[in-house]
Amino acid sequence: MLLPVSFAFVFPITVSAQQLGAVINIYSARHYPTDEALYSDFTKLTGIKINRVDADDAGILTRLKAEGSASPADVILLVDAARLWRAEVDGLFLPIKSKILEEVIPENLRAKRTDSGGISWFGLSTRARVIVYDKLKFKKNELDTYEKLADAQFKGKLCIRSGSHPYNLSLFGAMTEHLGPQQTEIWLKGLVSNLARNPAGGDTDQIKGVASGECAVAITNTYYLGRLMRSNNPADKLLAEKVGVVFPNQSSWGTHLNIAGGAVAKNSKNPENAIKFLEYLASPSAQNHFANGNNEWPAAKGVSFDNPALKAMSGGNFKSEVLPVSAVGMNQIKVQQMLDRVGFR
Ligand code: FE
Repeated sequence: MLLPVSFAFVFPITVSAQQLGAVINIYSARHYPTDEALYSDFTKLTGIKINRVDADDAGILTRLKAEGSASPADVILLVDAARLWRAEVDGLFLPIKSKILEEVIPENLRAKRTDSGGISWFGLSTRARVIVYDKLKFKKNELDTYEKLADAQFKGKLCIRSGSHPYNLSLFGAMTEHLGPQQTEIWLKGLVSNLARNPAGGDTDQIKGVASGECAVAITNTYYLGRLMRSNNPADKLLAEKVGVVFPNQSSWGTHLNIAGGAVAKNSKNPENAIKFLEYLASPSAQNHFANGNNEWPAAKGVSFDNPALKAMSGGNFKSEVLPVSAVGMNQIKVQQMLDRVGFR
């Protein structure tokens, strides 16, 4: 497999930087340009320089495995519980010991190691997976649960990205916890028969599908919607204005939450500084950055933030699912088998 070009430059830079001491190497699958300020603030605060490798999760995991014990990676940032679970099972993380993280990150947003004691990774920000809909065609109460998306009235009206995308694997993994595997598979079959088009594109494409009338309901992570709502481009704002948003399952188990999280790389040469960086990401200022920069909810307890888009779409407060995110990640193999059986690509 060809590795992303950016990796080619990382080794020489990393080796010389490590000799100077205070440097950490971060492999990040976060794909948000607004994160730049997070990294520079950390360096300002601690004097620890950051070398960063941005790649998708598959690229990062392949690279880590290829590098083995020679890997210069210290911190791994991945988006989605399903991906973090996979990396942990593949033995790519060191256990994390941090009083600060244990204190501020709620228990359901972190994962115990599968092999031994200790904590494998911490969720650092959350995003809700919500339903957007055509306000002219449907009312909120017609689609206020994930279950209703399989109703016959939405035949030919549902847009969603690939079923195997980690965001959906995690949502379906959570549904498996709530409904049991049998009911979940029946539900997934219902989603397939309601599709307006073959699953394709990212979450923003699904919002656009509703705004253009190609579909009437869709599923998206909240930050994609927040990005459109807060965009300087009037066309983006118009897209967001055209769709209604529902935080599903408010009267049952709550809206599905997913996380972006961090871990310490198995072969880190600077595990203490790696933990320092993760602790920094859980600090109020970094948590605010997740909220204001990328429209995510803080994962740390008791952090106040001010993001008008998050407030507007959720009404300020909403009930979220409290499943252990690690259990959700663990279900992904089972979910993939169901998707294959019902023909959800
Ligand atoms: Fe995303």
